[in-house]
Amino acid sequence: MNVHDLTTPALLVDAHALTANLADMAAALPGPRCRPHVKAHKTTALAKLQARHHPGFTVATVREAEGMAAAGLGDDLLLANEVLDARRLGALDARITVAIDSPETLQAAVAGGVREVVIDVNVGLPRCGIAPERAGALADAARAAGLEVRGVMGYEGHLMLVPDEAEKAKYTEECMAKLLAAHADVGGELISGGGTGTYRTNKWVTEVQAGSYALMDTAYTKAGLPFRQALTVLATVISVSEGWAVADVGLKALGMDHGNPTIPGAQVWFCSDEHTTFAPEQPVAVGDRIRVLPAHVDPTVALHERMHLVDGDEVIDTWAVDLRGW
Ligand code: PLP
Ligand code: MN
Repeated sequence: MNVHDLTTPALLVDAHALTANLADMAAALPGPRCRPHVKAHKTTALAKLQARHHPGFTVATVREAEGMAAAGLGDDLLLANEVLDARRLGALDARITVAIDSPETLQAAVAGGVREVVIDVNVGLPRCGIAPERAGALADAARAAGLEVRGVMGYEGHLMLVPDEAEKAKYTEECMAKLLAAHADVGGELISGGGTGTYRTNKWVTEVQAGSYALMDTAYTKAGLPFRQALTVLATVISVSEGWAVADVGLKALGMDHGNPTIPGAQVWFCSDEHTTFAPEQPVAVGDRIRVLPAHVDPTVALHERMHLVDGDEVIDTWAVDLRGW
């Protein structure tokens, strides 16, 4: 099949760029040094390629854990998020480790039949995670409740898009000092954290939870990350006016929280529900196909039911985005 036969908007994944991204990460952080985060692509077919390089995965939702287990990818899943309803987790045919940061999430893990946890530590991002000085006590409580505590995690998400590498390294060290202090009290083999933005600067974790690197987005490219833009959204030019053109891709097919998408050779003016208005440098015609580069990979992929693996204009495979939903 050719991309011109696809109904638009359609998610495209450049096979060469994807393969190169996976190989580059595996070279930088081989084996268990990277625990790929599947929330970025929500696609077990893609995770199967990552599993050739890395033994364990990070997931964000119970649904993602279920889908990974069902696909035979459940050897070592870290649910790097707080879960109050863990009922579906204990029964999974998988090794599942859940993040906890409170007595409530500890109790939910016990009630759900989860056996292994990590203590989620706040390292500076105002989101989940217990204060570092309280991590040891929560680990003691977890062990007293019969849980295995595998270690700590701490996500420095506020540093991911810091453009200056030296500055990012300095901030990362400060954040990880908190995680290491907590780990001294908690123990365990895992010190988990980091992401695509800090995969080179975070030298303190035992494993990096990188997700976006596989498909990439323009926010990470602008922040200086070396991975290739594998993900585009194929769209059709549906209207042309004096000075601008309109493509059939809008807010409902693009994650917009990191800003407008990019159209090579054009200036994007704005997106609305079903449209992107742009000023092309060279004339375009109604019916032309264009490739739009999303600014943020995760929320873009989550809007689509499938992604098409392409080599140039040839569609070589179609993958279900099968980890969507909750
Ligand atoms: N770990 C956690 C807990 C996250 O929430 C995220 C992304 O938001 C990541 C890791 C890293 O993801 P990425 O590599 O896409 O930046
Ligand atoms: Mn993201």
